[in-house]
Amino acid sequence: MITSAAFAGKSYAVLGLARSGAATVRALIHSGATVTAWDNDEGLRDALTHELPGLVMGDPAVIDLAGFDALVVSPGVPLNTHTAASRARAAHVPIIGDIELFALARAKLPPHRVIGITGTNGKSTTTALIHHLLETAGVPSMMGGNIGLPILSQAALPSGGVYVLELSSYQIDLTHSLACDVAVLTNVTPDHLDRYDGDFLAYAASKARLFSMQQADQTAVIACDDDVCRQIASRVNHRLLRVHAADVDPADQQHWSSLQGPHNAQNAACAIAVARSCGLDDAAIDKGLRSFAGLPHRMERVAVINDVLFINDSKATNPASAAPALAAFTPSPRPRIHWILGGKAKGDTLDECGAWLGHIAHAYTIGDAGPMFARLLAGNVPVSEAGTINTAVRLAAQSAQAGDVVLLSPACASFDQFRDFEARGQAFRDAVAQILPDVQREAS
Ligand code: ADP
Repeated sequence: MITSAAFAGKSYAVLGLARSGAATVRALIHSGATVTAWDNDEGLRDALTHELPGLVMGDPAVIDLAGFDALVVSPGVPLNTHTAASRARAAHVPIIGDIELFALARAKLPPHRVIGITGTNGKSTTTALIHHLLETAGVPSMMGGNIGLPILSQAALPSGGVYVLELSSYQIDLTHSLACDVAVLTNVTPDHLDRYDGDFLAYAASKARLFSMQQADQTAVIACDDDVCRQIASRVNHRLLRVHAADVDPADQQHWSSLQGPHNAQNAACAIAVARSCGLDDAAIDKGLRSFAGLPHRMERVAVINDVLFINDSKATNPASAAPALAAFTPSPRPRIHWILGGKAKGDTLDECGAWLGHIAHAYTIGDAGPMFARLLAGNVPVSEAGTINTAVRLAAQSAQAGDVVLLSPACASFDQFRDFEARGQAFRDAVAQILPDVQREAS
């Protein structure tokens, strides 16, 4: 656990007691702070009260916040609408997250570097890849932020270690003093606009803050493949490495089995620039790129049944991240993708995917967005409103021919039907496992 004398004697209100919130409360209390915590889930409150007898429970949407040093909220709390946030602002109490606490604790940690990664898509892949490149080269490294274990729950790295932090825009909004030695931006396309009152520029500005928190001797790595990234790069006044997906030589990329497709060229270009600026040589970087195993639910090969490939890309939660998945399978000799899409829509178009509709043999829509997507696609590709993943997988498996691909790349959030994108990806894996016996029966 990361603790700090910087928190001793201070008093914090903590809202949200799931994984990162619970880790925050533990780290603060073990650092000698006083904590008043809250979660609407009584089970989470009870578990923590039991574990930490000194802990006080109180809802920051109700209690008097005057006198607290900060309100620490989970990234899931919408700052634009939540009462606790407006009350904290009125009481002049800073609103922060666990990454800011980590930033405040840094001064007392053994000498280290911090790499922060943000972007609409590719954050997790780029974070995991940078961590893997460092580890492969023998550099002590730890992943945190939006990926893996909460940062404050992990043991501090030894001297020379590198903290690799995946940072969503919500986490950046809760962070005020994290000066990343290397800060990375993969891309910016419209997403999560409900949290920014529909304002794309506010969302982009949130990403750009990662660079404003840096100091003059630190490095920015920006993939300049989209206009917003190019604009953000043009405003960086310190060391800037502009990278592009096209920097990656396709002859090299073909050896990186878990980094296929143009989007992964972009992620790899970012990771290579970071690794070089951390002093890794090209041989070590190449070894890491070749051995990277990828992450579950991102273009994950689930099974090949009767020469039909089933791919779980449940993490594609917006049209911009589904587009590269569609692009990855060329229509030769005919459209081959049986595309399962839908869920809780992020917008009312599929424009980003438009260029790849020629790759689709048939689309199967699921979830809340199913009827809307079916309307958008009708006339362009054959569509069935399947409703659920089970039905979609069954229908797709029935009509797919040898050489085809059944692809779950939903272009939507999962919350209408699932707890999270992982549960949705698991439901796809289960549905594919269920059709296996049918296939085997038919074959026998
Ligand atoms: P994030 O953590 O930003 O959500 P992930 O690495 O988990 O990103 O990838 C999420 C989804 O976006 C996956 O479906 C993946 O195929 C797609 N994706 C990954 N990298 C990129 C990129 N650079 N550009 C567009 N889409 C991407």
